[in-house]
Amino acid sequence: MIVVMKPGASEDAVARVSARLEGLGFGVHLSRGTERTVVGAIGDKSVLAGVDLEAMDGVERVVPIRQPFKLVSREFRAESTVVDVAGVPVGGPEVVVIAGPCSVESYEQLLATARAVKEAGARLLRGGAFKPRTSPYGFRGLGEEGLQLLSGVREEVGLPVVTEVMSPDAVELVERYADCFQIGARNMQNYDLLREVGRTRKPVLLKRGLAATIQEWLMAAEYLLAGGNYQVILCERGIRTFETATRFTMDINAVPVAKELSHLPVIVDPSHGTGRASLVPALARAGIAAGADGLIIEVHPNPAEALSDGVQTLNFADFSAMMAEVARVAAAVGRIAEPPAAALRA
Ligand code: PEP
Ligand code: MN
Repeated sequence: MIVVMKPGASEDAVARVSARLEGLGFGVHLSRGTERTVVGAIGDKSVLAGVDLEAMDGVERVVPIRQPFKLVSREFRAESTVVDVAGVPVGGPEVVVIAGPCSVESYEQLLATARAVKEAGARLLRGGAFKPRTSPYGFRGLGEEGLQLLSGVREEVGLPVVTEVMSPDAVELVERYADCFQIGARNMQNYDLLREVGRTRKPVLLKRGLAATIQEWLMAAEYLLAGGNYQVILCERGIRTFETATRFTMDINAVPVAKELSHLPVIVDPSHGTGRASLVPALARAGIAAGADGLIIEVHPNPAEALSDGVQTLNFADFSAMMAEVARVAAAVGRIAEPPAAALRA
């Protein structure tokens, strides 16, 4: 349930309500909106028999949260959350594009890609150092060396870094290098990993599992918030359907559904969502038109030679062209998109 405080309720009143709830055994989570503070209480409601929270100073009303996900729900927090990834706001008016190779392969590959995507308007750099591969014989990533390359290129180019963490043991290592964790589709329900990342205070990009319902995805996000990490970005990356023409089916429905149910930012991944480079720009435009807060796109200097996911990866020219189209769609739906630097000079 949530305890909605009156507009202008004092800090003391909020502290008394929080202490009362903690005393009753609830986990307490505060949400401070522009108008009022909401005290979220997670726990066993049966202890409330005979307790009149509404009589407490500063309390406006007590409202149950009907959804199984609590802290993630719009019932808990009506205002949209803006996640700050090293100074880049995700979930505000700006459409934020994360771009880079599927896998970090070398310094030269990463540096060239980072420069090209930044020039085209990307705000964050992606690149996997730990790769979950369907085949045990595929390239599994450079590991810590890949993280070092990411952090070197971040210094050189000035784009904050998003990279995947696959296991609870690696959280500390990845945290040292990354500006934002990525939890991959295959690990969306790795609850030990969710718990460990939930203990950090670093932003997290949580991909939807490839056969997960929207509710299961939001429940996975709930693990992160329940751990105290509220900096979560949801990412729709395509689900498994009967369709074989594309690698996955990017679920456009998921964008407005997740935004209706949750206050967290939602981005889409048309690279994995389609599995084909030629389809990526259309689904990127569709995602933004449907209300997504951003995109994550795979880009490589020479996709034909990429060590992973080359078939769905854009080259620099196609990425730049896509960015110009996305900027037009963003403007049409009342969002701001960083126009490609090259387009500004033209
Ligand atoms: C990736 O981003 O390269 C990746 C492995 O994504 P997903 O977990 O969505 O398959
Ligand atoms: Mn990939």
